[in-house]
Amino acid sequence: MLPTLHQRECDGPRGGPGRFLTVALLVGAVLLLCAAASPAQAQWLNLQRDMMGTDLRIYLWDDDPDAGQAAIEAVVADMSHINALMSPYRADSELSRMNARAAQAPVHASAELIEVLEQARAVSELTGGAFDITYASVGHLYDYRRHIKPSETAIGERLPAIDYHHVKVDKAAGTVSFTRPGVRIDLGGIAKGYAVERAAGILRDHGVRHAQISLGGDTRLLGDHRGRPWIIGIQDPRDAKALAVRLPLSDTAVSTSGDYERYFVADGIRYHHIIDPATGRSPHAVESVSILGPDATRTDALSTSVFVMGIQQGLALIDELPGFEAIVVDSRGRLHYSEGLARAGAHGNGKRETVRGNAGAK
Ligand code: AMP
Ligand code: MG
Repeated sequence: MLPTLHQRECDGPRGGPGRFLTVALLVGAVLLLCAAASPAQAQWLNLQRDMMGTDLRIYLWDDDPDAGQAAIEAVVADMSHINALMSPYRADSELSRMNARAAQAPVHASAELIEVLEQARAVSELTGGAFDITYASVGHLYDYRRHIKPSETAIGERLPAIDYHHVKVDKAAGTVSFTRPGVRIDLGGIAKGYAVERAAGILRDHGVRHAQISLGGDTRLLGDHRGRPWIIGIQDPRDAKALAVRLPLSDTAVSTSGDYERYFVADGIRYHHIIDPATGRSPHAVESVSILGPDATRTDALSTSVFVMGIQQGLALIDELPGFEAIVVDSRGRLHYSEGLARAGAHGNGKRETVRGNAGAK
């Protein structure tokens, strides 16, 4: 059991969309049984540890366990490096130095940070600004641990600093500047996806062909589970021990954004860590969004984006993007799927499935 993740590997397809692929699973199981015997030492390797403020899990197959172990160590070293550059919690990170100084003068930035800034900007443009790393100009005023929220006045004063156009990247010079004071950036909506996508590349370079890498809500699957798909469970947003959906998947990225990870409730309102850049406040139309796609950097940024955009606009965007799919749990616990998943039988009879009891009745 992997209880704290938004997505988990499960022990089999029991209900949900998984049942539609039982045949595929049986074929996979037969192939597995028929596979030539592996070398004696070949085995699954497992790592679990804290990383980037969340839970890192790596599960991979390697014919040579020593090589597999070396691959895992290379991933951990790379993620530690990304964290040192992009952590908002470390005063010495490149990100923190940028937030302190980029409004006064251009600040040097690593190639990795510039790459993430460019990918973030592309998603901002794609989503009409629903994804915006300058959300932090207001977002950093919330303290979810100490249940602190900014006043209306403070939100109003800081709101004009939210606009991704305020961030100027000079790729040739390797610098970043902000066009006005008060701008703050945070890469929490994209950096974990970027890190797991790099991890997949590192494992591939080490010859690994079957792996699952999960960093909090961002998962990257490399290949399949040796002849059968990985079964990935999407967490019920209101019950950490229950799954909303199970999906048989291979060679893909899955990212989940939820309102249940970092939040507090005050006066009946849930203040959570996803902020609508237009208002400086948390949106409430949905409880979680999961995005499937070819790379984790984009599934990560898009899960946050669709959370902000809401069901209609968010699913319309995903339906337009080749290779991407979405599962949304709305505020009443109802499941909504993108066209491709719906077509594949993710829900039947045109009815909306519900995650919880009668939440979706009506
Ligand atoms: P995720 O778990 O990927 O949805 O990311 C949530 C994190 O993204 C938050 O903890 C913030 O660091 C960051 N974030 C919140 N709202 C936005 C937004 N509108 N655009 C970009 N990043 C955001
Ligand atoms: Mg995300």
